[in-house]
Amino acid sequence: MTNSPARDIDTSRPHSARMYDYYLGGKDHFEVDKLAAETVASVYPAIFVCARENRAFMHRATRVLAQEHGIRQWLDIGTGIPTEPNLHQVAQSVVPEARVVYADNDPLVLKYAERLMRSTAQGRTTYIEADVNDPAALLNSTALAEVLNLDQPVALSLNALMHFVTDAQDPYGIVDRLLAVLPSGSALALSHCTPDFDPATWQKVTDIYTNAGTPVQFRSKDEVARFFSGLDLLAPGIAVGHRWRPDGDCDATDAEVSLWTGVGIKP
Ligand code: SAH
Repeated sequence: MTNSPARDIDTSRPHSARMYDYYLGGKDHFEVDKLAAETVASVYPAIFVCARENRAFMHRATRVLAQEHGIRQWLDIGTGIPTEPNLHQVAQSVVPEARVVYADNDPLVLKYAERLMRSTAQGRTTYIEADVNDPAALLNSTALAEVLNLDQPVALSLNALMHFVTDAQDPYGIVDRLLAVLPSGSALALSHCTPDFDPATWQKVTDIYTNAGTPVQFRSKDEVARFFSGLDLLAPGIAVGHRWRPDGDCDATDAEVSLWTGVGIKP
């Protein structure tokens, strides 16, 4: 884990990770985050469904990769405030020796990172404070090298992250650079909010985040599919979150969920 000096956590402005914690029913947020999250909920009441289905996709994608594709290592960027079960708990419930590197650029996540370190004895987890916009620094981290063997397949997990990377920041180039260092058999699991089913509402959500100081770019199905260029998409391809290998009934509508999700394997 990165031992950076304690940094002040800004509680005067809403923060996306803490707003997401509120959507998930967590307790790690402040009044200012709750107010901003409720403003989002006032224009998009299904934000709670979206957040829950996003998390459920991460659980299923992790299980499928562990059970059906032999994945034993994960690099999860944009981890968020820990919410049980975290990715390593899902992976290690299938494969106790699973190794997971978590990364986020939010000092608040670092504060709670010890909850991400409760690995099985056979496996290993670590947390690095890193920005996805600097993939080279992230990949060169010594903590990453201690936990992941880049000669063996790794699943790159980018859940609800890339909509915080605008086109000006070269999101496709970033994902390409991350995948470039991973061997054949590695995977990309990605979820991404979309305006496709209700553009007017998502414009309002965009405005709320942007005005709160967090630029966002929600993307269409084709734009999300582009992240998987050169990969073999697992069935059912790019799907709305609750339709990607559902393991139970979910009566949410596509507009409520408003997330494109997919898992691809590097040939
Ligand atoms: N992946 C989790 C949390 C998603 S919330 C899940 O799907 O449940 C998005 C997270 O991405 C937040 O914790 C936020 O701090 C992080 N994030 C946003 N921009 C980032 C960046 N440039 N680099 C790393 N993490 C980032």
